[in-house]
Amino acid sequence: MSRPKILSAVRQRVAEASRFRCGYCLTSQDIVGPVLELDHILPVSKGGADEEDNLWLACSWCNAYKGKQTDALDPLTGDRVSLFDPRRRIWADHFKWSDDGTLIVGLTACGRATVDALQLNNEYVVPARRRWVAVGWHPPSD
Ligand SMILES: [Zn+2]
Repeated sequence: MSRPKILSAVRQRVAEASRFRCGYCLTSQDIVGPVLELDHILPVSKGGADEEDNLWLACSWCNAYKGKQTDALDPLTGDRVSLFDPRRRIWADHFKWSDDGTLIVGLTACGRATVDALQLNNEYVVPARRRWVAVGWHPPSD
């Protein structure tokens, strides 16, 4: 039996709270093309609900790479840490953009683990970011 559909009003509120961009890589809806997806911060497979406080926008790359993961290894220390929670944590506390604006740099264990686990600098998105930077669409200024 399929799960009940998330109400469009809930999706709209989550999209507004997410500022119409991916909570992980900050790609904006208006430049990415495919519609941003609803990410279950705690995956359904691990008991996460369809409730608004468990939802955030994610691009299809980040949502696919995240999958069922809730934690990952910090590549610097090898410690297993929680992935970034875009609803409860501040992006700039855990990540920054490289000087050229094309790469996401993890600043904390959580940030580094999330960059690796979600492949935030994957070989497909970085060339796109390079073009977005060239026309002034990226990185976001806030
Ligand atoms: Zn993303």
